[in-house]
Formats: sequence, structure tokens, C-alpha cells
Amino acid sequence: MIKMLKTDCIFCKIIQNELPSKKIYEDSTCLAFLDINPISEGHSIVIPKQHFKNIEDTPPDVLANLFLAVKMISTKLRFRLHLDGYNIMQNNFKAAGQVINHIHVHIIPRSYGDDKFKLKIPRTQISENKLNEVANLLRD
Ligand code: AMP
Ligand code: ZN
Repeated sequence: MIKMLKTDCIFCKIIQNELPSKKIYEDSTCLAFLDINPISEGHSIVIPKQHFKNIEDTPPDVLANLFLAVKMISTKLRFRLHLDGYNIMQNNFKAAGQVINHIHVHIIPRSYGDDKFKLKIPRTQISENKLNEVANLLRD
């Protein structure tokens, strides 16, 4: 594996065992550990072992390994913790709530009943013209 770590990055320090963490999975490219301030019990963070800031900086092979690990860990969490479901969250840039600038994926356990995590998703009305305008900005 190519070593690419940043000395001032909390997650790189966790990879190097310079900071403690509750690791739950490790392979040659990825690491997963419990979030220190969990949204719900079992809230996990999955990271590549190489330091990349966000999804745009991260090479395809690294992303592929990362999301394969996310899938495997999510399934394990669901069975072992008897979850009803989970959200996968991946924040990019400050405006989207990214605090740690080492790409990471949150796996957030959800359950019926005593579930304190409320996703507030505003849905809006949009005109056909506006939809076309936005689609045209995105098409090559
Ligand atoms: P984000 O807002 O997407 O950058 O999320 C960063 C996440 O990392 C937050 O949920 C923090 O609780 C979590 N976090 C920060 N420091 C640590 C740490 N030392 N060990 C485990 N999780 C951490
Ligand atoms: Zn890092």
C-alpha cells in the first residue's frame, strides 16, 4: 500500500494508532471505527487508509474498496445490532457539514420506536422550465 498520511489529520492519527479508537474492521486499504459522538448506538465511520480530502479527490479504486467495506460493515451492523435499517452519509465540504477533511463514510443505525435521529428533508415544487434549465447545466 502507498503510504499517504497527514500528520495533522485526526483520522490519519487513528490509522497510525497515535490516537485511540474503537476499531471494528481493518484491511489493507480501509479502517472502520465507532464514532466518538454517535448519533445512535453503533454509529460507525469507515475511511480509506490513504489521506484524501473528499469524494472528488479520491481515486476510483480507493472509492471502490471503501464502499465495498461500507457494504460489508453495514450488513454486519444490521445483523449483530439487530437494526431495522441504517443511513449511509458522506459529507463533502464545510457547507455540507464536513468537519474532518479525510474522506469518511458514516453508517448510522436506525430503529423503529426509540429513534432520536430525525432526517428533515424539505421537498419543494419546481417548474418544468427550471428542471430543464438545471438539467441542461449538467448535461455535456
Ligand atoms: P463529519 O462531520 O462528516 O466530518 O464527521 C466527522 C465525524 O467524526 C463526527 O461524527 C465526529 O463525531 C467523528 N469523530 C471526530 N473525532 C473522532 C475520533 N477521535 N474518534 C472517532 N470519531 C471521531
Ligand atoms: Zn487523514
